[in-house]
Amino acid sequence: MNAKILFSALFISLIFFSCEEKSVQVYPKEVEIAPAQDEQEVKDSIAEVKLDSVTTSYMKTFNLIDVLTVDPTIQIDLRYATTNNFMGRVLYDTLNALYLQEDVALRISKCQAYLKAKFPNYSLLIYDGVRPLEVQREMWNALDTIPAAQRGKFVSNPSYGSVHNFGAAVDVTICDQTGTPLDMGADYDDFRDIAFPSKEWKFLASGELTTEQHTNRKLLREVMKSQRFRGIPSEWWHFNALSRNQAVAKYKKLIFESGVN
Ligand SMILES: [Zn+2]
Repeated sequence: MNAKILFSALFISLIFFSCEEKSVQVYPKEVEIAPAQDEQEVKDSIAEVKLDSVTTSYMKTFNLIDVLTVDPTIQIDLRYATTNNFMGRVLYDTLNALYLQEDVALRISKCQAYLKAKFPNYSLLIYDGVRPLEVQREMWNALDTIPAAQRGKFVSNPSYGSVHNFGAAVDVTICDQTGTPLDMGADYDDFRDIAFPSKEWKFLASGELTTEQHTNRKLLREVMKSQRFRGIPSEWWHFNALSRNQAVAKYKKLIFESGVN
């Protein structure tokens, strides 16, 4: 076949397939188009979606699931849904369960199995999972006495987002069979240096962090590392399932309010 014949054949095929595509888009006459909703109906349906936004189905659109549906043996104390947090007030008025990305929840359940294989009476106790971006902004603004450059150690800048916003980070500790957290030498959301894993050597040397407290932290890290979770230098309780860049590429940020990005 010479080039001219080949070109003609390609041209004819192109016309054929273009026509084919057009014919698919023609609606049969019997298909009825639904009448347009009036403005009020549209507003009502938007309001319903907003009211319904805490439901599993809304979270499902972000691939987020209640971690207890994956492993009901995990203990949860969702601190930001209570007043027992560093802000002293309820921040999660739209959340009442601990949600994570499905694959992250699965990895957490494997961490729980790892822990229970070693210490059957112990359990993971999770304080936080997915965090709506609006709450991230509230926390950032509440810590405005700390210069922005330093503030990122404790709360991620909402302009970039935290791995929590994607449901791919957890704040977690270990508790015994009574639900009492192990002594980690600093409570959850303690912003003092003694909570820094990177400064443990200093506090061990001064005796402010005991060997037992340090052993408890090391156990938590071992359990989380078994499923490739990574800690951060400034909070013993925080672990990322992946990096922020990987989270951006893979997941969507949880947003409840319109106009927030
Ligand atoms: Zn965290």
